[in-house]
Amino acid sequence: MIADLRALYRLLEPRQRRRLLWLQCLIVLMALGEIVSVVAVAQFMALIGNPGRLTSGEGRMAWLYQLSGSASPEAFLLLMGGGALAALVLAGACSGYTTWRLSLYGAQIGAELSSRLYRDFLHRPWLFHVRHSSSRLMHKTSQEVQRLTQRIVIPCLQLNARLVLVVFMTTMVFLYNPWVALTGLAIFVGAYLLLYRTVRKALTATGKRVSRHQAERYQLMSEGFGGIRELLLWHRQGPYVQRFEAASHKVARGQGVCQGLGEAPRYAIELLAFGSVILLVLYLLGRHDGEASHILPALSVYALAGFKMLPAFQRIYVNVAHIRGNLAAFEVLREDLAASRDAPPPVSEEPSVRPLVPAVAIELEEVSFRYPRAAEAALSGVSLRIPANHMVGLVGASGSGKSTLVDILLGLLTPDAGRVTIDGVPLDAARLRRWQEGIGFVPQQIFLTEGSIRENVAFGMARDAIDEARVLEAVRMAQLDELVASLPDGLDSHVGERGVQLSGGQRQRIGIARALYRRAGVLVFDEATSALDGVTERQVMADIQRFAGQMTVVLIAHRLGTVRHCDTIYMLDHGRLVDAGDFDGLASRNATFRLMADL
Ligand code: ADP
Ligand code: MG
Repeated sequence: MIADLRALYRLLEPRQRRRLLWLQCLIVLMALGEIVSVVAVAQFMALIGNPGRLTSGEGRMAWLYQLSGSASPEAFLLLMGGGALAALVLAGACSGYTTWRLSLYGAQIGAELSSRLYRDFLHRPWLFHVRHSSSRLMHKTSQEVQRLTQRIVIPCLQLNARLVLVVFMTTMVFLYNPWVALTGLAIFVGAYLLLYRTVRKALTATGKRVSRHQAERYQLMSEGFGGIRELLLWHRQGPYVQRFEAASHKVARGQGVCQGLGEAPRYAIELLAFGSVILLVLYLLGRHDGEASHILPALSVYALAGFKMLPAFQRIYVNVAHIRGNLAAFEVLREDLAASRDAPPPVSEEPSVRPLVPAVAIELEEVSFRYPRAAEAALSGVSLRIPANHMVGLVGASGSGKSTLVDILLGLLTPDAGRVTIDGVPLDAARLRRWQEGIGFVPQQIFLTEGSIRENVAFGMARDAIDEARVLEAVRMAQLDELVASLPDGLDSHVGERGVQLSGGQRQRIGIARALYRRAGVLVFDEATSALDGVTERQVMADIQRFAGQMTVVLIAHRLGTVRHCDTIYMLDHGRLVDAGDFDGLASRNATFRLMADL
């Protein structure tokens, strides 16, 4: 556990660690304040028990009495009372302030870590997102970070505060009476240690269970809401609800067990504390021949110290229990936190990057790619040439590797072997950014943000940076103007989850408009027009063909009519390039092509 916490500390940013140090100082101050207040009150009580000491002329109190120049012992008592009260107020204010800072700081750390993960995940390469489900990433960024801060970081700080307090208090009692201090400490430390050792394994196991079932809950939410149409249609909500209920129940049970194992033993310990006090009183009475007035000062110190220490011990134990029960959250986040700390600063995002537009050709040279953990290569030894300002088609059965090839072309995936060159120069990390800037891409699935049509067309642009003329042009070319005209708010109509409902074809055309808005030198369509009806598709294609000779177009389609006008058509099968040529050539010599083209 200690090693884990040290690792966590190292994963914090230097700024956060500095703040932690500052807090630690506050915490020590707070413990000191508590000690001073206890001592002051104890001295006051001792004085009340035996005011004769003031006039006896002996001891510190008599000295203080003379120093204060008080008129009478009563006046001095009043002064002392006031002093004790002031010490209490100061200590209380100090503790309050520290607790306040602790809460603020803990919450802030949570926000910072969460943002750090979000930023890091958004900058991870495509392959990372291919491998990790979005629900899992969401779960980590929100739920697990929350658990990490609320149940590990903040308890750690509080634990620290109480530990310092206990050490100081014990030292103080030790100065009064070493035996009482040592015996008391031994009893409580022993009791809590015993307790902790008993529940430690249960806490760890429960914490892991909570992590697992929380993740499952997130997955069920994401699947349930994402596949709601199918669920509604086939009435498959039942199993989802049941699994969600079961997971929620287990999470609640786990959280309850962790909480309970922390809180419930308090009563047993309190019993132990009262028993010890009774024993202590009996012991002191025995030593002072049953004179209560003699033991009052000492007893009041012990009582006050105990009064402060018992809850402190309890908090220490509860916090240790929380940390132990939630270390699983740290385990889940550990790698991501490490990666996000070591991550290079994100590539510059100013949109002023000069796009890299091919002048001669884009070439794939012997490109091979296999997805991690996949048995077979998605692409093996594919070489093809896309001449600049030509229109190139890519066909093949589904699963033949078309989308993978496009992802490599876009620089989203890096080939395992082979390379991509633009005008003969390999696409390296330095040129990648410019290359991607110059590409207009329409995927199979268009992702709409929750905003107006205008914002969706000018995807990712600040609202006041949107070029209206370009939006209008893109909307017209994507055959969207009719739809826009029919909407009451026109371009300002909201789409996305809570906006107007669009048909698959309309969505697709927004995606096309988005690609056209960029006025890119290279346009890539990944089965982008397959959701359109034949007439609309032909219109969109006709508009795209108007660019023939002005920009490079890569067209993936399974309706071969779409690629009829391409200068070259490449045919993929099981990740290999099997044929290439123009439409008529392929149709005349390739039987599979004829089959696909329905000729
Ligand atoms: P296409 O776009 O032609 O339908 P893809 O490029 O999507 O084909 O897929 C090519 C091959 O790679 C398929 O065999 C598919 O199963 C595999 N594949 C695609 N995506 C992944 C992935 N994320 N993980 C593992 N294998 C994948
Ligand atoms: Mg595909």
